[in-house]
Amino acid sequence: MFNSSLECMKSVSDEIAMQLKSAVAKHLFRARSRDVEATLLEKSIMMNLNRRQFLKSTAAAGAALASAKVSGEVNPESERNGFGMLYDSVRCIGCRSCEAACNEVNKLPKPVVPFDDDSVFRQKRSTTPEALTVVNRYANPNGNDPIHRKQQCMHCNDAACVSACLVDALNKTAEGAVEWDNWKCIGCRYCMLACPFQMLKFEFKNALNPHISKCTFCIERLRAGGKPGCFEACPAEAIAFGKRSDLLIEARQRIADNPGLYVNHIYGEKEVGGTAKLYLTGVPAEKLDLPKLKEKAIPKLTESIQHGVFKYFLPPLGLFALLAGAMALFKRKDKDEASDKERNNG
Ligand code: SF4
Ligand code: SF4
Ligand code: SF4
Repeated sequence: MFNSSLECMKSVSDEIAMQLKSAVAKHLFRARSRDVEATLLEKSIMMNLNRRQFLKSTAAAGAALASAKVSGEVNPESERNGFGMLYDSVRCIGCRSCEAACNEVNKLPKPVVPFDDDSVFRQKRSTTPEALTVVNRYANPNGNDPIHRKQQCMHCNDAACVSACLVDALNKTAEGAVEWDNWKCIGCRYCMLACPFQMLKFEFKNALNPHISKCTFCIERLRAGGKPGCFEACPAEAIAFGKRSDLLIEARQRIADNPGLYVNHIYGEKEVGGTAKLYLTGVPAEKLDLPKLKEKAIPKLTESIQHGVFKYFLPPLGLFALLAGAMALFKRKDKDEASDKERNNG
């Protein structure tokens, strides 16, 4: 009984923590609102827009601020027919052809270490503005051959980054991609805080017009009837591309055909409300640095706590106190559990 109350409290504290992130971001956003006009003006100058267009954009930003979203934006067309990609870590041979293709398709600078140089696997890498997808190598607990795992934006169905953006610079498209719009973006970077996969990267090097970069799902190619570059380049058929619903059927079939090869879990089918990028793995997903996440979409979590906050007019200080109390409780619980473990081992 006590444990289940604690679990309940933990879930509430998680939600409050997320809500706090949102509140802080909104506060920062407001604090920055005076900078917004300047940012938009800079962009207007850079993009050779006239004053009238600039004023229109400023008004749009103001309207967006006034109607800040409390929930994510699920695209119903994407839900029905959106594309997905199924990455099969069991099939992947770690050749990094997908990285090379992504580099080519997105016209990114060539890396210092060439794509055929295995030394990159000595350390774990994350995506950067110059590498929208990276493949990492992991020791195999069940055998000699190493395991590989490709990472990139997951193109979440109900994306936290979309929900976090107050000026609609991120959107889930009908094709299934989460797309970033340079013109709308004001550079507040709250989307980066919100992403549970930490897949949004800020282009610090580009001081004048920095981009928030991530895998684009090759959206321009998709719109032109093409396919993602990484999918086309993979020589091991480790990446499948198609309708997300078809890929889920394919993934289930592969697990059923080879239950000894695969963990019976399609990562991304349900995590954070589902993602367009899906994973099949031969070891538990968290061993390949895929975070253990709840099924509920993050925008829905923030929405429910936000409603609670407004319903009970909980002032921010009360919110902080509640969170601090819950965290202290969990720290104490963790400490008690650690001492219990020590006693049992001793
Ligand atoms: S993985 Fe992160 S950046 Fe990509 S859609 Fe999901 S929340 Fe947004
Ligand atoms: S879908 Fe396109 S942008 Fe995304 S990782 Fe593949 S090649 Fe790169
Ligand atoms: S191209 Fe295919 S096999 Fe090669 S690293 Fe990428 S996903 Fe793995």
